[in-house]
Amino acid sequence: MAVGICNIDQNRSEESLLSLVIPVYQEGSHIKSSIDVIEKVLKDHHIKHQFVLIDDGSKDNSWEEIKQLANDKANVTSLRLSRNFGKESALCAGLDYADGDMVIVMDADLQHPPEIIPEMVRVWREEGFDVIEGIKSSRGKENPIYKWCAKFFYYIIYKTSDINLGKASDFKLLDRKVIEAWKDMPERAIFFRGMTAWLGFDRKQINFDVAERVNGKTKWSLFRLIRLALNAITSYTSVPLHCITVLGIIMFIGAVLMGLQTLYMKFVGGATSGFTTVILLQLIIGSSIMISLGMIGIYLTKIYKEVKARPRYLVAKCVKSKEGQAFDKSE
Ligand code: UDP
Ligand code: MG
Repeated sequence: MAVGICNIDQNRSEESLLSLVIPVYQEGSHIKSSIDVIEKVLKDHHIKHQFVLIDDGSKDNSWEEIKQLANDKANVTSLRLSRNFGKESALCAGLDYADGDMVIVMDADLQHPPEIIPEMVRVWREEGFDVIEGIKSSRGKENPIYKWCAKFFYYIIYKTSDINLGKASDFKLLDRKVIEAWKDMPERAIFFRGMTAWLGFDRKQINFDVAERVNGKTKWSLFRLIRLALNAITSYTSVPLHCITVLGIIMFIGAVLMGLQTLYMKFVGGATSGFTTVILLQLIIGSSIMISLGMIGIYLTKIYKEVKARPRYLVAKCVKSKEGQAFDKSE
């Protein structure tokens, strides 16, 4: 439980610090220019800010680039995770290192338009909302199969856990007290979008059009997406496990009816070879048992991972710029 959250008194003013948490994976070719674009918007609107850049174990020159940024600029914290932990864990690391009164989480490829940051900050400051969510009014250029799968995935989450993530994105502004509440969630398997939805607080949505990636390509392969979807569904709901029970009951009723019919046929002497029925029954029962076991296996793996309680991420290096004078804690 988050003790003392109500004591966090906020003074939302022009002086409030905004932390920008940006996960970076294989974005070396354009991370510098992306940061410049974002910084220009912030400077133009006189928003006091700090960048927290997390290199999620990239194999390209991303780390060198963000390390350089920490050396060159006065307000950058650059982290390098010990390996590729995935975007969700990188975000966790960033939120832990952010000092701001509010935090904006965004992608490194400018698909989340920086132009709406000032509006998000204004809403936070003047209207008092704690979570300002970027809502995709269009999903940008996407493969139709991917689009359809995403729709189906959100539909399942909505139906099983009542959390509507249809147009949600990871582009969000979170107030300091929301971050503190987030840090109190101890689970290892993280799905940022779903977990922030679960947190609640006063929320406002702002629409944006997903821009095209500036450079490089998306890191979400079909396999990664399926893993994320399974992770999200099993993190949020135990409905699939209940489905198994319902399925079991339906199968049982079917089996009793089938049994009665078979006995009746036997007694009236009209029993046919029945081979098809046996094969069909075997297939149906066999496959439902397999699916059920698999589903239980997924939940078991989750419990196993949570019980191990390993850290969500490991920071290998950290470079912070301080008042124009850079220092390197690790090298
Ligand atoms: N990302 C990350 N670790 C990963 C994959 C992605 O930190 O393992 C970052 C990536 O650098 C980017 C953000 O997550 O800042 C979104 O990734 P991407 O643009 O590939 O996703 P998409 O926009 O296609 O959903
Ligand atoms: Mg992207």
